Amino acid sequence: MFNNNVLQKFVDICEYHKYRNAFCISKTYYTYNELGECISRIRKELQSQTFIVKNVGLIENDDLETYASIFALWLEGLAYVPLSPEAPIDRNKDIINQAGITTILDSSINDTFLEYNLIKSSELEKTTLDLEVKEVSENDLAYLLFTSGTTGRPKGVPISRYNLNSFVDAYDDLDVEITYEDKCLQMFNLTFDLSIISYLIPLLHGACVYTIPKTEIKYSYVFELLDESGISITMMVPSMLQYLRPYFEEMNFPNMKYSLFCGEALDLELINEWSSCVPNAIIINTYGPTEHTIICSSYNYIGDKSLTCNGVLSIGESLGDSELIIVDDNDNLVVNGEKGELCLTGGQLNPGYWNNEEKNKEAFFNLEIDGKIKRMYRTGDLCFMNEDGFIMYLGRIDFQTKIQGFRVELSEIEFHAKAFLSSINAVAIAIENKIGNNEIGLVIENEKIDITELLDYLKSKLPSYMIPTRFSFLPVFPNNINGKIDRKILINNFI
Ligand code: AMP
Repeated sequence: MFNNNVLQKFVDICEYHKYRNAFCISKTYYTYNELGECISRIRKELQSQTFIVKNVGLIENDDLETYASIFALWLEGLAYVPLSPEAPIDRNKDIINQAGITTILDSSINDTFLEYNLIKSSELEKTTLDLEVKEVSENDLAYLLFTSGTTGRPKGVPISRYNLNSFVDAYDDLDVEITYEDKCLQMFNLTFDLSIISYLIPLLHGACVYTIPKTEIKYSYVFELLDESGISITMMVPSMLQYLRPYFEEMNFPNMKYSLFCGEALDLELINEWSSCVPNAIIINTYGPTEHTIICSSYNYIGDKSLTCNGVLSIGESLGDSELIIVDDNDNLVVNGEKGELCLTGGQLNPGYWNNEEKNKEAFFNLEIDGKIKRMYRTGDLCFMNEDGFIMYLGRIDFQTKIQGFRVELSEIEFHAKAFLSSINAVAIAIENKIGNNEIGLVIENEKIDITELLDYLKSKLPSYMIPTRFSFLPVFPNNINGKIDRKILINNFI
């Protein structure tokens, strides 16, 4: 049977550090004992269900019950599928249908999901502590996240228990010394896998996790937390730093031990400035796609001498048992220094997209490396490896982009825009705004039209970060020499 050592470690920590703080949520502290009690209540309720489908919906709220639900599900051998209460109901229903969810855990007082078997996790009665780890197989899922899909629907990325354990093992390679005295920032939505690194790793070390209330403006609350709470470990996306940048001069966080980044290209110039705000911190650029369980490579910043390409920090070398290789258009390994698509394999590689054979055929393939056939994932990232084995990130080879760290397939936006505009063509484009972050622009092939109804429609289909913030109109789209719409020229429409 599979050795579920991650979960066992968590249970041991709950016992050993029971009087220490596990969470600080909206300025209220909760001990590991309180977390354990909350998990036990939810777990008992899960056990009382006569039948339960393994994928359980979890409405993401900022409270102890939401985090306790994750561990209750894991201890019970179940998996969570995070659902954002802010996302359009149509999108959530699509995810619920795709994942086959029948039971949903919700700690709020809302009745949005009444048509499902709804467990109100904040209304459960006290019970005895029960943190026994139920046996699971390594293929059982830990979670199922839905990311932006190219065909207009979100696609499911299942992560197995084995994948999660492999990730925790790989994390050790970062050499982040984390103890029960650490205060760790968790600034991500649960629908984004960087949340897992931000809550799970601290909880496996008896440290305290500081979350961001949903009602607060993220960057100003982060500033407040860093300033007042002595946060010692953070994982952020670079675009968060762009929001904080105007305040760098006021910032001095000597307590910060580790400042980690992931999710987007990290600019040397930006990180040089940030480094003086965190004079005692080790700054690490980590990299990884959701399909390969959170992060799989890292590069430690070393000031101006850091390895960069086009001003962007290297994504470094592999962690754990992950293998990072670069292939050409014919899936042949390229030599060092030559550009190609970064492909991944190893224990963190997920089992493939949820019920999506077509996508699986596109994104996963078998490759012979050193006489062994390995299953690989195509990241869509254009990279090269330097002579010393460090990987340099050059950009995307497709139309995926990042908005505040969230992965966005531009074609998903176009799909919905075109559905509304019927015969009128539309192209979504990532444009850099004044502070250096991406925004979505939508170019419509028409004379100027009123976009009010289009915006309302998009808001009913897409999460807020995918809604275009800029619009422009062109009577006829330009084509490039291959006869395709010339997106590069369309970008000029926003300058
Ligand atoms: P996600 O699945 O949302 O985590 O997005 C994964 C994608 O984010 C990768 O394929 C990259 O395109 C991008 N990404 C993640 N980390 C980095 C990084 N450190 N530098 C550049 N791009 C990154």
